[in-house]
Amino acid sequence: MTEKRNLSRKPIEAASLMHRVMAEYFRDLDRAASDDARKVAWCTSVGPAELLRAMDFAVYFPENHSALLGATRMSTDLIPVANAIGYSPDICSYLTADIGAWLKGVTPLSRAYEGIESVPRPDVLVFNTNQCRDVQDWFAWYSRELSVPSIGINSPKNITEVTDAHIDDVARQIEALIPLLETISGKTLSMARLRETVDLSRECTELWGQVLETATAPLTFFDGTIHMGPAVVLRGTQTAVEYYRVLLAELRQRVQDGVGAVDGECARIYWEGMPVWGRLRQHSEMFADLGANVLASTYCSSWIFPAFDGRDPIRSMAKAYLELFIVRSDAYKETYLQAMLERFRIDGIIYHDAKTCPYNTNSRYGMPKRLERATGVPSLVISGDLNDLRCLSDEQTRTNAEAFIEQIREGK
Ligand code: SF4
Repeated sequence: MTEKRNLSRKPIEAASLMHRVMAEYFRDLDRAASDDARKVAWCTSVGPAELLRAMDFAVYFPENHSALLGATRMSTDLIPVANAIGYSPDICSYLTADIGAWLKGVTPLSRAYEGIESVPRPDVLVFNTNQCRDVQDWFAWYSRELSVPSIGINSPKNITEVTDAHIDDVARQIEALIPLLETISGKTLSMARLRETVDLSRECTELWGQVLETATAPLTFFDGTIHMGPAVVLRGTQTAVEYYRVLLAELRQRVQDGVGAVDGECARIYWEGMPVWGRLRQHSEMFADLGANVLASTYCSSWIFPAFDGRDPIRSMAKAYLELFIVRSDAYKETYLQAMLERFRIDGIIYHDAKTCPYNTNSRYGMPKRLERATGVPSLVISGDLNDLRCLSDEQTRTNAEAFIEQIREGK
């Protein structure tokens, strides 16, 4: 039985600034939705947000809203509402929780921010299927429900090497969106503005990458899922860049002062797959109690996009959207994961097999065993889900995690 260590987690001071930044983001969306002079675009997480921002749309990300539904544990009750109108419990629980919330007329934004009554009503829905097909189906439902256009990019997938042909394909699809968006926004795209926005996205991303590099000590995966909020919803803005400067300065100071995220770390763990949003705190505390530092992850690192380049904005956006981990082949993913294991000196990998998201689940086709053979780093697969807590056994997760950390400690 693994000894319980009662280790304290170290709060991050920049969190209060992040809460203010996120509050202002949601309040601005709310203002935009009730201002006839402004337009709201809904965008998938790695959709063409740079283009939308450069055209002055207020940009809202339903996936971020779904993560909030998960983190507030509202989702498990809302998923059956979408199931009742024919959306299977086996498909993306972001989609089903979000549609369920709309049908019930509820949102965690109302609880968090007084005066916000609903998510902002869209003028256009813009998707990119680089991550999965579910986002297109998700937006198709809102398109029918609200009679607003749903337009987007159908991305190639399962890519080992991103080639010029892939980039040409996506760049042409981005270009094709411009006249449609100009009609909806009533504004002409300024290339200078797009260049600036794309450069801000790169800057945000570089800073976020540097934040994650400091995970050698002060930032766990569980902290990272919260602090990546501005990178997800404010990519392409000065606000996000400034937030990450503050966070990075704090974390670097902590490294210098020798302050770690988990005292007495006895195992360094990599998290592969999505978080269980409704169990963030429990998982964070459970691993800290076991002396395990869950310090690096594919999920948080997916928001690093070095390809963004204002000198060639549209092609560089296409390249950035295609280089995303989720778009890549298993061969690429395994090479990437091997490099991450080395870089963060990882003792063990936890794969989250998320029942309703096969796209962010990489444990079903032999990858854990292949990587274990190649690297000697042991792995554990935990069954669960991002939002549907009915797919999770807390007892089983704890028992398996305890045994896994014990195995790592004994092997050291
Ligand atoms: S990648 Fe997974 S969680 Fe994200 S929208 Fe697609 S199915 Fe849902």
